This record gives sequence, C-alpha cells and structure tokens, in this order.
Amino acid sequence: MDVMPNPAILTVDDDPAVSRAVARDIRRRYGDRYRVVRADSAETALEALRELKLRGEQVAVLIADYRMPQMNGIEFLEAAMDLFPAARRVLLTAYADTDAAINAINVVDLDHYLLKPWHPPEEKLYPVLDQLLEAWTAGGATATPELRVVGHRWSAPSFKARDFLARNLVPFRWVLADEAEGAELLRAAGVTANDVPLVVTADGKSLVQPSPADLAAQVGLATTPAADFYDLVVVGAGPAGLGAAVYGASEGLRTVLIERRATGGQAGQSSRIENYLGFPDGVSGAQLTDRARRQALRFGAELLSAREVVSLENAGGARVLRFSDGSSVAAHTVVLATGVSYRMLPAPGLAELTGRGCFYGSVASEAPSCSGEDVYIVGGANSAGQAAVHFSRYARRVHLLIRGDDLARSMSSYLIDQIARIDAIEVHPCTEVVGGAGQDHLERVTLRDMRTGETREADTSWLFVFIGAEPHTDWLDGAVARDRRGFVLTGPDLTRGGHRPAGWALPRDPYHLESSMPGVFAAGDVRAESVKRVASAVGEGAMAVSLVHRYLEAQ
Ligand SMILES: Cc1cc2nc3c(=O)[nH]c(=O)nc-3n(C[C@H](O)[C@H](O)[C@H](O)COP(=O)(O)OP(=O)(O)OC[C@H]3O[C@@H](n4cnc5c(N)ncnc54)[C@H](O)[C@@H]3O)c2cc1C
Repeated sequence: MDVMPNPAILTVDDDPAVSRAVARDIRRRYGDRYRVVRADSAETALEALRELKLRGEQVAVLIADYRMPQMNGIEFLEAAMDLFPAARRVLLTAYADTDAAINAINVVDLDHYLLKPWHPPEEKLYPVLDQLLEAWTAGGATATPELRVVGHRWSAPSFKARDFLARNLVPFRWVLADEAEGAELLRAAGVTANDVPLVVTADGKSLVQPSPADLAAQVGLATTPAADFYDLVVVGAGPAGLGAAVYGASEGLRTVLIERRATGGQAGQSSRIENYLGFPDGVSGAQLTDRARRQALRFGAELLSAREVVSLENAGGARVLRFSDGSSVAAHTVVLATGVSYRMLPAPGLAELTGRGCFYGSVASEAPSCSGEDVYIVGGANSAGQAAVHFSRYARRVHLLIRGDDLARSMSSYLIDQIARIDAIEVHPCTEVVGGAGQDHLERVTLRDMRTGETREADTSWLFVFIGAEPHTDWLDGAVARDRRGFVLTGPDLTRGGHRPAGWALPRDPYHLESSMPGVFAAGDVRAESVKRVASAVGEGAMAVSLVHRYLEAQ
C-alpha cells in the first residue's frame, strides 16, 4: 500500500543564505512531521507546487520572501493560492517593507508576515508556525476522514448533514450516491439513493438520515447534560455564549453551554474577522471560535451540541430550560446568547430550494463545489462582501447583488477595496432577486433592476443570501420582555419612565444585562440595542458572568 508522504512546508527566497537558514530552522522543529520544500525563485516554487498537486500531495504552509525578481512574494502567494487554497500563507519581509505586507493581508489573505531576521526562532518563528499548522490541521486538511457521508448533490437533508459536520469541524468524506463507492455503501446498508444521507462511521456503522443529535452522538459531541442543576446555563455558543462559558467556568461556576447547531454562531461563518482585538493579520471565525470552545472545555464547562432550547420558566429559585424532546435542565442563572440568524429572501420559488442551491449565510463548505461556476450573492454588508471574496477563489464569476447604488454605505472600506481588486467579482447595484426556479435544485434566478423595473433571468445553481438578521426569540414569549423586533430588553431599557418591569419583585432595578426575569441575562446580538460585533459579544458574555456573581451573592 502507498504511504502518503508528510505534508509540505514550502519556502521560497532568492537569497540562498536566507533560503537555507529558513529551511534549516523549519526542518529542525517540524522535520519529523512535515517535508520542507525549498525553492530559489517564485517560478521554481510554482513548478514544485504544480508537481505536488499532480501527485495528490498536501501543502500546509507557504513562506515567501517579499523582494524577489520577476515575481514578488505577494504575486507568488496569489498564484499559489490557486493550487493550494487551504495552505497557510506567510510573507517574509524586511522592516522597510511592512507596509507592503500589511496590504498583502487583504490582497492574498495573508496569514502572517514575518520580519527578518526571525531569531531566535523559538520566539519569533515557531509560535507563528505552530499556530498556522494547528489551524491548517483543524481545517480538516490532514485528517484522514473516516466518516463518510453518502448523499445527493442537491438533496437538502444531505446538505444539512454535511453542513452540521463541517461547522462542528468534524472531518468527513463526501461520497456521491451515484458514484461507484456511494452505490456500494448504499447497497451494503440495504438502502437506496432515495434514503440519503447515509452516514457510515469509522467502525462501519450505518446511519440512515440521521438527525443532528444522532450525528452529534456518533462523532463524540455530548448531547445530554451530566447534571440536573447548574449555577449557570448559557444558551447559544456564538462569541457571547462562548465568552460567558469561558468566564463562568474559569471562575468556578458549574456551567453548561447549549448549542442547537454548531459552536461559533455567526462568527463561525466568517471567513476572516479583521477587526477583533489582538489579531493584526485577521483570523478566520472558525479558528477563533474553535479556540474559544476548547478554552471553555479546558476550564470545565460542559458543552451540549445539537440541542435547541424551546422554553424558559421561572420555578421559584430555579430557572428551567426545556428542550424540544421535553427534557429539561435547571440552574440558578441563565445567559441568553442566542444571537440572530439570517432573514429569508421572500422571492417566490426560493423557499423550496433552500439547501438545494439557495443558501443562507456563507456556507463556506460549499465553496469548492462552485468551482468554475457562476455564483450569486445577495447583500451589501460585510458578511456578503467577505463571502464574495471567499467564493471568488473557486467560482468562475461572483455576482454581488445589492439594492443600493454602491457598497459605500453598507460595507467597510477595506472590503470594498479588496472587492475592487478582484476581477472575478462583479457588483450589480440597484438589483434584487424576485424569483428562483429549478427542478430538483436551483437552476435560475430572476433579477429586477430597481431603477427601471426591468427583469431578467440568470442561469445559476448557487445563490447565497445575506440580507440582515432577526433574533428568533418567539420561544421566550411571556418569559422575558422583548422589543418590537424580538430583541431581549435588559437593564436600563426595562426601567424607562422609572417603572420596573411588570412582575419584577426584587427591591432593586435589573442589573445592566439582566432581563425582566431576575437571574436571566442577555448578551451579544440577541440583546436589544447591542453592538453587532464579535468583540462586543465576547465582552458582554464576560460581563454577564460578573453580574451572575452579583446576583448569586445577593441570594
Ligand atoms: C458572515 C459574517 C461575518 C461577520 N464578520 C464579522 C467581523 O468581521 N467582525 C465582527 O466584529 N463581527 C462580524 N460579524 C458579526 C458577528 O459574527 C456577530 O456580531 C457575533 O457572532 C454575535 O455573537 P452572538 O454570540 O451574540 O450570536 P451568534 O454568533 O448569532 O450565536 C448565537 C448562537 O446561538 C445558537 N442558538 C440560537 N437559538 C438557540 C436555541 N434556542 N437553543 C440553542 N442554541 C441556540 C445559534 O445556533 C448560534 O450558534 C459577522 C457575521 C457574519 C454572519
């Protein structure tokens, strides 16, 4: 049997002394697990990459010197991205070139720039590479996928299973039902292509159309609480919930974090968060939130996956949260961190095609499937812009449909600049989607020019929608006060006019993030008037925990 060679770390520098030194330092620490490939020009490095690609090998990190003749480091990394888009990218620069390196963060989605000289490597080189290799591995690039999902390209339940696994960073292999291997697995499980998705575990167990909870249990994610009673239940594992869980557990509270879909929330879908404090080169949302998840677990927080909370009751001293299967969990205090989710596009025909060509959110896992095709993205805010940049690496053309005249009012200028530099992205101003159609999957959309009222059809199998979000808090109806749009009211917003909320029995006003039910706090996007940012969500999660302590001390 062929043994797969170690993944490569490629370095390219036209100065032979520097080139040798980088390769030597890298080999010293990573030589047992990675193959170091050294090139002395961008052209030879690209040639080596093409060869590795042809041989089906993997490249984990690309390190390129900025100043090289013919093709500089940024141009090289840009070309290399076409061959190995998942490889992490590092630019080697002299101090004088840091401006170019900072610009490259946007142009080639640079992961890091490393100043020469990098000595001692233990301080300046290895921590950077450790982090990048960890991120590359977490992306599932190296894992031998043992879990196989057999499905149909355009089956919404197949998509849901894949999306669930991808968002929870569980490596799996996607097998089409109409390929030989897929047909064989279906036959072995005694089912047909109508029964997809079929999930085949490493030990050969077959799960036919598993629910997210079944899948979670199979891949080792906990779904039932270990105890009946906690100090703190956190609902929602986006940045706010993760923040609350990290601070709650690290400060000695018995803490359980409940998530219906996948840790990370909206932030987990962000291909690159550029404005989170402490990450000058940006960080992918999945990376950031996966680190937070591990941090919460390390401090002893319990994490329940694929569990949706459907009601909240005040039962004397306890707050009781019920799951959709009727079971429940109780605690002294609760942090509601359920965020928001995308609004649906009301155009006729699209509801039936959700998950079969029409997707809400970026669904980064779908990007490679769009290779060489036309992708339509709806929305003018940063989330749509990030998705356009991300999909432009795979798609033939990305059409960004916006209702406004231009992007300036709704998108950050760094993203507008980035989009302007990418030829494959075309912005369509004053354009809305008014219909979608297709047999078993999306085949075309109807677009309307809002200035002239003219409509036209465009053939596409890919529509990604980012048109604002709503909190989906109906399940809190009658339990806590919400504003007109469903956002949870807290603290001073509850005592407008000097009156405390109806039914409030305590001889004090609600604390700053406290809802109209004492001991129940709201943090992050779900809170009325909150700033919709990762940093503020994390901050509110942490702050909610300090208010939990204050609440518990007064009991
Ligand atoms: C594509 C994209 C890119 C973005 N980029 C940036 C950026 O670059 N910088 C920035 O600052 N912000 C960015 N944002 C915004 C940022 O991600 C959000 O402000 C932040 O994630 C809010 O965190 P949260 O924890 O309040 O809510 P969410 O992230 O919305 O998390 C809420 C979680 O609660 C879960 N949940 C909901 N209801 C229930 C229930 N009943 N039971 C159990 N679980 C439940 C959800 O499944 C979800 O995982 C971006 C958002 C998107 C969508």
